[in-house]
Parts: sequence; structure tokens; C-alpha cells
Amino acid sequence: MDSQEEVEWCDKEKRNGNDVRFSLVDFVKEGQHFISKTLLKAAFEICAMKHNFDYKLVKSDKKVWYIHCADDDCSWRVRAEGLPGSSYFIIKKYVPNHSCALSKRKGSVRTASAKTIGTLIMHMYETTKEGPRSNDIVQYMRSEHGVEISYSLAWDAREYAINKVKGLPEEAYEKIPKYLHMMREANPGSHTSYERDSKGRFRFLFISFGQSLRGFYVAIRKVIVVDGTFLKSKYKGVLLVATALDGNSNLYPIAFGVVDSENDLAWNWFMRQLNAVIADEHSLAFVSDRNSSIADS
Ligand SMILES: [Zn+2]
Repeated sequence: MDSQEEVEWCDKEKRNGNDVRFSLVDFVKEGQHFISKTLLKAAFEICAMKHNFDYKLVKSDKKVWYIHCADDDCSWRVRAEGLPGSSYFIIKKYVPNHSCALSKRKGSVRTASAKTIGTLIMHMYETTKEGPRSNDIVQYMRSEHGVEISYSLAWDAREYAINKVKGLPEEAYEKIPKYLHMMREANPGSHTSYERDSKGRFRFLFISFGQSLRGFYVAIRKVIVVDGTFLKSKYKGVLLVATALDGNSNLYPIAFGVVDSENDLAWNWFMRQLNAVIADEHSLAFVSDRNSSIADS
């Protein structure tokens, strides 16, 4: 079966970038799966653009996506159905030949949306800092998909793609509280703390695994090394780590923190969290060569 073809199409494009020349339109067949409705729509927007016609959307919901030629009497039509419990859509019926007159079609030709083109080029912004510019996108759509798009459409598509790619880590921050909750469920005795500012932006994160804490009390020397290191991701921040030494002088991590920047406030917060999991006692020694803030804390 060819049910994997559309999935492969996406993968292939991701793997080879500009190396492969093929059109998604030429793949389209009955029984074919699309990983999402967005890609299904993209395929037919490009198809209509490439073959100079327009279509009407008859029905679009979670279960069905049904379009036919802009000419009501024409035989060209596509009916796709959503696979229950997934984002997939499968083409159930596809009549690829038009019965309408070619001259009639010329008048209205569908233009792919910025979202569609943005979806097709999104992967090119995932790994590089800059990604293709608007002119490159015009060229790419011409050579890879056989369609001419305007500079302004390419510009909008680029904006869409960049925002979509950039948006992903920001959405990931939203998942932190849920992640911490699940982490505590799975690791009894763990301590986590998460603070945001008044606008909901990330400030401090603290994680200490229950197993690490139990190990610390059983077998570890009462020396804790605290240190901070700058994170190199786009969102920067500083990783704070509290580490103990075991009987063989091996490093034994007790707690991790991520803070927006390494300053007194951040260290103070981190040490307070650490104090909540490791009882302060006279035999406990702290070692650090990093920051005067640590000594203060
Ligand atoms: Zn037609």
C-alpha cells in the first residue's frame, strides 16, 4: 500500500532539504494518509495553484474534509476522512480529472495561503539561526513545488514559519508545572519548586530527586559543592547544581536549579530550596569557587 507515502514525503523533505525535486501533488492518491489536516489542505492548495484552478470547500470538520472544483458541474473532487483518535486524514475519494472547460478555470486560480507555504518551509528554520529569506522561498516554491508565489506571500509565509518554530519552546514552558507534578508522582520524596514573575514569565526552577536525597543521608560525606553554569540555549538562563561527594570522592548530584540569571536573589532562592531538603547542621560544609552570592546565601 501507499499509505505511508505522505508521511515519507514529509520525512524526505526534512532529510534532504533542497536535494530532492518532487511534487506532493503527484503523490496524491485514494487511500493515502496525511499526518494532519493542515498538510492535506496544503497538498490541494498547491495542487490547485499548480494546475490553475480553484475549488470550493464543501465540508470541513474533524471527521470529513470535502472539496470540489469551483465549477459545480465539474467532476473534480476530493473527500478525505479523519482517522478516529489521531490527527491523520485519509483520502477516501479523489477524482483528479476535470470535466469543466479549461478556459473557464483560468478566471479564478487558488493561491496557497501564507500558512500553507509556511508549513511547507517550517523545517528549514528549525536548525539554522537565519533560515531562507523571502526570495529564497519564492525560488524554493518554484523549484520544489512548481508554483509561482509573490514576494509578499513569501514574506508572510516566512513570518508564519519563524513564529511557529519559535513558539514551540515558549509553549514548552507552559508544561513545566505538569511535568513537575508527574515527576513528584513518579519519584516519591522529591522536592520541586517553580516561580514565575507577575507576568507569568520563568524565574526560578528547583528539582531534587527523592532518591538522591535518601542516598545523601545514608552514604554521603557532609560536603556539598554548589556551582552555576550558563545555559547556551536561545533562552539562556543559568543552571545551578548542588553536588555532594560520596566515600570514593565521586560526585553525587543532590539538586538542580534553573534561574533566569546568576545573582544574589537567584542564589538565595536556590539555597533556601536546598535548605528545605537538606537540614542545616554544623557538620555540613559548602564548597564553591563561583560567586560571592553563594557565600552570602
Ligand atoms: Zn473543474
